[in-house]
Amino acid sequence: MNSFDNAAFREQFPILKIKVNQQPLVYFDNGATTQKPQCVIDKYQMFYSQENANVHRASHTLSALATHSFEQTRKQVKNFIQASSIKEIIWTKGTTESINIIAQSWGRDNLKAGDEIVLTQCEHHANIVPWQIVAKQTGAIIKVLPLTADGFIDQLVINEMITEKTKVVCCAHISNVLGRINPIEKIIARAKQVNAISVIDGAQAIAHQPINVKELGCDFYVFSAHKMYGPTGVGILYGREELLNRMSPYQGGGEMIKTVSFAQTTFNDLPFKFEAGTPNIAGVVAFSAAISFLQDWSSDIENYEQKLLEYCLAKLTTISQIKMIVEGEPDIPLISFVIDDHHNHDIATSLNVYGIAIRSGHHCAMPLMAYLKLTGCLRISLSAYNTFEEIDYFIECLDKIINQEDSLPQLTENNNQLSDDIVSLFSKAKGWDGKHREIMMLGKNLNRLNKDRRNEKSLISGCESLAWLVFDKNNDGVYRFTADSDAKVIRGLLVIVLAAFNDKIAKEIHAFDIERYFEQLGLIQHLSPSRGNGVHAIVQRVRQIAR
Ligand code: PLP
Repeated sequence: MNSFDNAAFREQFPILKIKVNQQPLVYFDNGATTQKPQCVIDKYQMFYSQENANVHRASHTLSALATHSFEQTRKQVKNFIQASSIKEIIWTKGTTESINIIAQSWGRDNLKAGDEIVLTQCEHHANIVPWQIVAKQTGAIIKVLPLTADGFIDQLVINEMITEKTKVVCCAHISNVLGRINPIEKIIARAKQVNAISVIDGAQAIAHQPINVKELGCDFYVFSAHKMYGPTGVGILYGREELLNRMSPYQGGGEMIKTVSFAQTTFNDLPFKFEAGTPNIAGVVAFSAAISFLQDWSSDIENYEQKLLEYCLAKLTTISQIKMIVEGEPDIPLISFVIDDHHNHDIATSLNVYGIAIRSGHHCAMPLMAYLKLTGCLRISLSAYNTFEEIDYFIECLDKIINQEDSLPQLTENNNQLSDDIVSLFSKAKGWDGKHREIMMLGKNLNRLNKDRRNEKSLISGCESLAWLVFDKNNDGVYRFTADSDAKVIRGLLVIVLAAFNDKIAKEIHAFDIERYFEQLGLIQHLSPSRGNGVHAIVQRVRQIAR
């Protein structure tokens, strides 16, 4: 029997009561960041209204209060992940910064030409790029553990790939795309056998699994507070004390020193040696409420999340066009898939119209996408505040969107829209729902560019999905642009932008008030910043051409 009281849990999160596009919010993007319970919001506010001062620096009451709360949270984290000492808990601004500290601080001192850094095929960019940077600095070489067809690290090659040459092995505890628990115990054990250090990226695991770093025996374990109901801007770097003691500081500045003279500086003890400057004190203090919150609920959450996962998987299989990106079930409620003949961005923006937040794109895992021969995918990542009813609603909307997209009318001619036509079209469209439908319709009816014209030269950089722009200029200096994208929503936006610029000379293109045009359409405020930036990238490219 599941004793989890979803309604009571859900009640803790004020944001879940808001509406998005006039619809109740359905938040399925918890892998990116979780929502925050009232206790975390209250603690944040309490700190700024009652305790705010800098930590470790002053002898006044507020500073003592702030330092106490700040250090209490460090103790809480130590207990939460079963570390040996608070000296092993370093505050950072997130998983990414934690990994960069290890790569630069440990890596630069310990790697040399020919040494091997072993990563896995399913790493987040945060656990790839810092290692590439240090590899370049030291001459070390990166090797990649492959995956099996069902998205597991291929255990048969662990011993073969992690050898005496290996100095560090870096692995996600759970992949942010595949939702798989990786065999980190085996990887850590093999790393130990060859005297390599192990770095475990716990960003996705921390909200779903109890973590015991001593039992795991890893050298480093890193995670972010914001993925476990805590605030953004707070990260944790757990490192074995003995290793941290041998490492040089990553950044210099206040608080990380014992003494400073122009001749020589001596560094502070752990953990402060790695905490230069004023940290995110309010964030750390509020994080303490998130840890307590998670501990209070954790025994019931896992079982409930498993049920959500099974329910959601079963429902998704009722839609025949859906293809999971790997075989088999994920281990946490995080499901990645693609939909035959539908672009990921089209689906995600359409779901947004119904108030449903899901993620589309490469998920900061471009090497994994390339390995799976995908340009991107859709990801839903659930939390214990999600409900079975939300899954039903999501499936119902998804089904509707797939069929609706298929049934958008096919017009015969769509490439000669004028900006006035577009403004008039949009003024009749009701709400974002109506405008979005118009964009999708324009996109569906835009003639595709010939494949040979979709090339590196015509590619618009800065767009979220692939988009291409080509042009002709006649003897009178009049421009005619033609564009294309692999996503309907971007093609629709291209039609809108080009309606403003086509059949104009350079002077007119530069004189056109595009911001006012977007305002008239009521467009930009509804686009995510990245999609908004994409639209601006198209405008910029047109203006560049007409320079
Ligand atoms: N590693 C994994 C597996 C992640 O899922 C993420 C974020 O999604 C990160 C690292 C980076 O975390 P942050 O952006 O909090 O630094």
